[in-house]
Amino acid sequence: MTFSVHGLAVSRGVAIGRAVIVASSRVDVAHYFVQPDQIEAEIQRLRRARDVVSEDIARVQQGLHDLGPADAHPELTALLDVHLMLLQDEQLTSGVKHWITERRYNAEWALTTQLELIARQFDEMEDPYLRERKADLEQVVERMLRVMRGGESPMDLPGQPGGARQGGGDEPLVLIAHDLSPADMLQFKQSVFAGFVTDVGGKTSHTAIVARSMDIPAVVGARSASHLINQDDWVVIDGDAGVVVVDPSPIVLAEYGFKQRQGEIERERLSRLKHTPAVTLDGQTIELLANIEQPSDAVAALKAGAVGVGLFRSEFLFMGRNGRLPDEEEQYQAYRAAVEGMQGLPVTIRTVDVGADKPLDRNTARSDDHLNPALGLRAIRWSLADPAMFLEQLRAILRASAHGPVNLLIPMLAHATEIRQTLALVQKARDQLDAACQPHGRVKLGAMIEIPAAALTVPMFLKHFDFLSIGTNDLIQYTLAIDRADEAVSHLYDPMHPAVLQLVAGTIAQGRAQGKSVSVCGEMAGDVAMTRLLLGMGLRSFSMHPSQILQVKQQILRSDTAKLEAWAQRVLTADDPATLLRD
Ligand code: PEP
Ligand code: MG
Repeated sequence: MTFSVHGLAVSRGVAIGRAVIVASSRVDVAHYFVQPDQIEAEIQRLRRARDVVSEDIARVQQGLHDLGPADAHPELTALLDVHLMLLQDEQLTSGVKHWITERRYNAEWALTTQLELIARQFDEMEDPYLRERKADLEQVVERMLRVMRGGESPMDLPGQPGGARQGGGDEPLVLIAHDLSPADMLQFKQSVFAGFVTDVGGKTSHTAIVARSMDIPAVVGARSASHLINQDDWVVIDGDAGVVVVDPSPIVLAEYGFKQRQGEIERERLSRLKHTPAVTLDGQTIELLANIEQPSDAVAALKAGAVGVGLFRSEFLFMGRNGRLPDEEEQYQAYRAAVEGMQGLPVTIRTVDVGADKPLDRNTARSDDHLNPALGLRAIRWSLADPAMFLEQLRAILRASAHGPVNLLIPMLAHATEIRQTLALVQKARDQLDAACQPHGRVKLGAMIEIPAAALTVPMFLKHFDFLSIGTNDLIQYTLAIDRADEAVSHLYDPMHPAVLQLVAGTIAQGRAQGKSVSVCGEMAGDVAMTRLLLGMGLRSFSMHPSQILQVKQQILRSDTAKLEAWAQRVLTADDPATLLRD
């Protein structure tokens, strides 16, 4: 039966595919297709993992037995029996084999898919004792996954991420999860899915941001989608409307198929603008920069015609590593790869911004963390709390600047003391490199304006920094007191609120008055509905996901900034600026 689920539209386009329901905790399991001649080997891997876990359990049982009756642990013995039984369970083994042979899923993916199916059946059981066995099943599967992880690496994926061609067939797949952390998204980037849906998340949550950077259709904040949708259901993800259609009728399917093709034609048309300079009708040159998360994203930035990187979110190098942070050398290699990847164009590297909805690891997710993580120890506060670690990052960035133009950007500054401490540490990093005779270039220093306190004290920032970059995602969050990752208040997250617009416009005007570069690197910069207004406010530098650059450029080519200025002033002073946006 056809039904639809509504959420937030975060990444444009239409994806049609079969649902793969993945528990959030298992997204970091590799997802790839195996070739027909590898199916048997994959089943063997699974058998081996099962045997290793069974032998482990048998060993523990033997140990208990050796302790003798005086030390008997009847509950533990019974539990181990249950685990052994679950390992041999026909539904588990035959189901997993089905996913491997029929769908050519790799063993880990097949195992977690089958686990998800059985777990749902457990959830529906009346008997509380049986319901609780779900946790046991999860434990044995977890142990098998750990055994399989031991040293065996996934093979190359067939096709590109987003292409989502099945190894065994021609059905694309879409991922449905309760939640995906930014670290999960990195994993997801390597995977085979054509789109995704999550129950939670806001429009500018980092999960949504990474989806946009991958340029695949996505809907977040779809509440109970992961419960309503079943494994293998046919699903349409309309990333423009924020709608997920489950089990679509042939007519609906045909309509979305048409929309999908239209989208492809539009992209093809836009791609012709790649080499066209971004100049307005009245001759103003506009800088279009890329936001990237990984050095390899430089390829997409160049492909979209970006004239540099305006925001390299370095925190993605720090995530999902079980607390082991990248050292100076590893960071240097990554920054250098981004700099070299941009082939002489400038790269703005932002120092680490973890915390809030970007935990380092899943097990330090926001719910386990502090009460108000968005107001807590994140970004520059986190860096200044550990100067040795911060110095490592600063040295790595400075060293990378020997290989091409680099700008150094500091997130979340608000206080004069933070500015002073940061600048002193930058100088110290330079001195340390000089003392060690390590080459480094000259970097321009920039501050992110993303806290209202900073936007209200722009002159202080202009005194110390070469350029400013407005982080509208956080500026909106902190100005309106709306958690950007919380779908429950997402209707109040309003880039067009007069207070937000006035802070943005004021920052741009003050920067320009002193001849310093000001860019916007929040999601607002890539939103074509905002392009004319930002131009009218005087913005001449936009940084966004590579996938948005050509659309924004098209809008720029049709704009006349001289005419937009007066109109922007009217919008800025209106009670409800959104009503004037369409004028
Ligand atoms: C912002 O806040 O607008 C920004 C660009 O930084 P991030 O989204 O990484 O917090
Ligand atoms: Mg920010």
